[in-house]
Amino acid sequence: MKKIFLYLVMTFHLSIVSSQPGMTPDRRADVEHYEFNLSLSDTSDVINGETRITVRFREPMQEFRIDLDNVRPDGKGMLVSSLLCNGKEAVWEHSGNKVILRDCSPGLSEIVISYSGIPSDGLIISKNRFGNRTFFADHWPDRASAYLPVVDHPSDKAAVDFIIMAPSHYEVVGSGELVEESDMPGGLKLTHWKEVCPLAVKVMAFAAADFAVQLAGRVDSVPVWSWVYPENREEGFYDYSVALKPVRFYSELIGPYPYSKLANVQSKTIFGGLENAGCIFYSERSVTGEGKAEKLIAHEIAHQWFGNSVTEGDWHHVWLSEGFATYLTSVYEEMNYGKERLAENMAADRSRVLRSSERTARPVIDTTIKNLMQLLNTNSYQKGAWVLHMLRYEVGEESFWKGMQHYYENFRNGNAVTDDFKKTMEEASGKDLGIFFRQWLYVAGEPELKISLVPQKKNDYSEIVVEQLQDHIFSFRLTILIKGQGKETKVVMPVTEKKSVLTVKASPDAVMTVDPEVRLLYRAAGIK
Ligand SMILES: [Zn+2]
Repeated sequence: MKKIFLYLVMTFHLSIVSSQPGMTPDRRADVEHYEFNLSLSDTSDVINGETRITVRFREPMQEFRIDLDNVRPDGKGMLVSSLLCNGKEAVWEHSGNKVILRDCSPGLSEIVISYSGIPSDGLIISKNRFGNRTFFADHWPDRASAYLPVVDHPSDKAAVDFIIMAPSHYEVVGSGELVEESDMPGGLKLTHWKEVCPLAVKVMAFAAADFAVQLAGRVDSVPVWSWVYPENREEGFYDYSVALKPVRFYSELIGPYPYSKLANVQSKTIFGGLENAGCIFYSERSVTGEGKAEKLIAHEIAHQWFGNSVTEGDWHHVWLSEGFATYLTSVYEEMNYGKERLAENMAADRSRVLRSSERTARPVIDTTIKNLMQLLNTNSYQKGAWVLHMLRYEVGEESFWKGMQHYYENFRNGNAVTDDFKKTMEEASGKDLGIFFRQWLYVAGEPELKISLVPQKKNDYSEIVVEQLQDHIFSFRLTILIKGQGKETKVVMPVTEKKSVLTVKASPDAVMTVDPEVRLLYRAAGIK
């Protein structure tokens, strides 16, 4: 649900995102593992870091580029003190926001980077709503490299260890499993979280704060924990315990939950929620004690399957993450509150899509976006959800869910782009979905329809005339309910031309309800 604070974030972020963000990394190198050793302090915002990167070079490389913000004029940023490659001091430089390692030989290498500095972003060091000092990693989309040396792109996923040395009064939570918690000399505590599943850097996370911690329950064998500020203990445990429901629902609908545990964490994320793998961060205001966070929690939990386990191979396919989480949340609500709720949600999402495309019509897969924060838009969320909703109708209930399960199974712990999803759905349904995917994802806008019911001379017949007023001609099925003289007839009309006509039985006084089940993303002509 990263959207909530979008506008606030965009203004603040414009200055931070570089002009060429999220560039596709060099495919000749593949990071397999990160071990982040970080020392945190109560008296200073300086962090000391030692990062071990296990990387496989597929062929000799003259240079290997690692993202890490350099020290800026305001003093924030990271200063690298040494870089070892396979135990030896390497030839390297820290130029701009890249650490460049020279002359890499093929095979597996271990790079150890020692550094320190005050994070300008990526790790939020601040006070929480109760005035207590807290540390929250907040990486999405490419902010981790403000304090961690990483290949900051969703296509290079890696296993990760966070080994955090902090004053002993902090509780430390992170992605993966807790493998060590030890008191250390000098009033310090070492906490080690280990995730063996490969993760995109954007959803690796840890936090250090005062926390009250409760096991909300288990789904199958997966523990679901609530981590909230001690002052919010009662309200937070109550609000976050609802997480068990979506974990169980998606596990049954899609496939097994991808990670060894789930922690739902009250946090200082700049977003409404951030879906960090196995360690979801919610804004501190998500805790009210009134159970109001269910939708937000269901959204972030859906990301564990889509976005985290199956990760978009490139930024411009982010609808595979946000559109999926948005739609699965509506499906979760459909299961809990009935079909009407799904229709209501889709109608609300459709209004947002139409309002947005009226301002600027861009395709969902929009390679012109350079500021990654701008990917958090109506296309990625609501239109992405609509694409899935229409696909469900296009291929049918059984094929749709079979396809979703296969897509998860085939790309679990990996990456996928839109074409991978299309192929999986084509296999599951036996249908050619070329036109469907092209028109809804690669074409800007949506059908604008002028629909009329024209009585014919022969008394009992009328013509349904559907005209597409937009430039690109779409193909779809349109459902129309015709009511007249106490009768109700449902008509499903294929629309593939600029003007489509269908003769139906209808009395002269008949009236139409277009798309009664909210199944089509369209704009009614003349309605702005
Ligand atoms: Zn989301």
